[in-house]
Amino acid sequence: MALRVEHDIFLVRQRGREVAAAVGLEHQDQVRIATALSEVARDLLGSVGGADVTFSVGFDVVAGRPLLYVDLAPTRPLPGGGYQPQSGAVARLVDMLGVVTDEGDTVVRMSRRVPADSPALTPERLAELRAELGSSAPGSVLDELAAQNGQLIAALDEVRSQRDELEVLNSELQETNRGVMALYNQLTEELEETNRGVVALYAELDEKSAQLRAASESKSRFLANVSHELRAPVTAIIGLSRLLADSASDPLTAEQARQVGLIRSSAADLLGLVNELLDLAKAESGRIEPNWTDVDLRALYGQLRGTLRALATRPEVELVVEEPSHPALVRADEVLLAQVLRNLLHNGLKFTERGEVRLRAQRRDDRWALSVSDTGVGIPPELHERIFEEFYQVPGATRVGGTGLGLPYARRLVTLLGGTLELSSEPGRGSTFTVTLPAGGA
Ligand code: ADP
Repeated sequence: MALRVEHDIFLVRQRGREVAAAVGLEHQDQVRIATALSEVARDLLGSVGGADVTFSVGFDVVAGRPLLYVDLAPTRPLPGGGYQPQSGAVARLVDMLGVVTDEGDTVVRMSRRVPADSPALTPERLAELRAELGSSAPGSVLDELAAQNGQLIAALDEVRSQRDELEVLNSELQETNRGVMALYNQLTEELEETNRGVVALYAELDEKSAQLRAASESKSRFLANVSHELRAPVTAIIGLSRLLADSASDPLTAEQARQVGLIRSSAADLLGLVNELLDLAKAESGRIEPNWTDVDLRALYGQLRGTLRALATRPEVELVVEEPSHPALVRADEVLLAQVLRNLLHNGLKFTERGEVRLRAQRRDDRWALSVSDTGVGIPPELHERIFEEFYQVPGATRVGGTGLGLPYARRLVTLLGGTLELSSEPGRGSTFTVTLPAGGA
């Protein structure tokens, strides 16, 4: 089509809509392309005096859909070689609007994709469309004006109904917002309530643990004081009974000598208990300061073998001390560690009728595991923790004597030395107590 005078703009617009309808564009798209076309036509008529308008059909390979092209070849070169629509909104009406150079000719091109479900644009169909459009006479300006008015009214209607819809959506949104806010406020309140509860609970816990600490401290103090006060009279009883039994004193009858002997051994037991209590109280109150050194297990084991041989009185029980073959250093206090091991070995010898009591040392990464195993009576699994409680003795074990204070004391000392004291045992098969301590020599 030739675009030369103002009247042509109407014709181009009208044809544009007809072509768009013919290739299968939807009603709205028809209006869009017709409007864009009339705007561009007006621009070109004003700036370069007109254009030749061509409608053609192509194919968008990426989208897999046909395309409607409208090319406007300007009658004179475009000023500056480019084209910018007067109204910026025009470009939004079509998929593409711009200047392209096709076989040396510069044209302003716009395109719009045809819906995939529209009838296929075969060459026959295109020939048909061309014939139809060619035979229909272009309408008058008034016709086009009427058509344009109709489109405008439809567009306004559409805008109004969209606005109504938007209003409904908006009010729904506000409703939802109010609901969300209410929920949020409720949650915040509940959270604050819970927070207050937690804070109160923590305060109570702090108070309780302070009370517990105070109670435990006063127990240790009491134990320390009582045992300290008891030591002097008990030592006096032992001394006096020794005096009574002394050959230089007045002779006693056999019965008197027996009774004095009983007094002495009871007093000795009592002194043992008092000493153990005093040790435990000291360990509990944190008054024991370890004297840290690298303790050589070979020397310590040799020493233990010597001092404990006297306690291994049963011929059916062998005391085996496996001295490490290489230098073996643990970071500890030698005196406290010796006390712990002596205690464990002593227990092993006490609770083993036949077999052996064995002291060993095994390296485990950066620690040493010192174990005392015996082939004695063993301890039921449910009592494995209880025997570490103060004064607890496995029922039936009392006849071999003891106070039930040795293991709790041993565990406290090991903890103080930065180690652990664990037990594995099976009734009738024996027990293994393992002290694990950091290796020394670092
Ligand atoms: P004590 O030996 O003075 O009774 P301990 O605290 O050393 O106190 O031990 C607590 C209890 O644990 C013992 O009375 C005994 O019942 C049990 N026990 C400790 N060592 C062994 C062991 N090697 N074999 C069997 N039972 C043991």
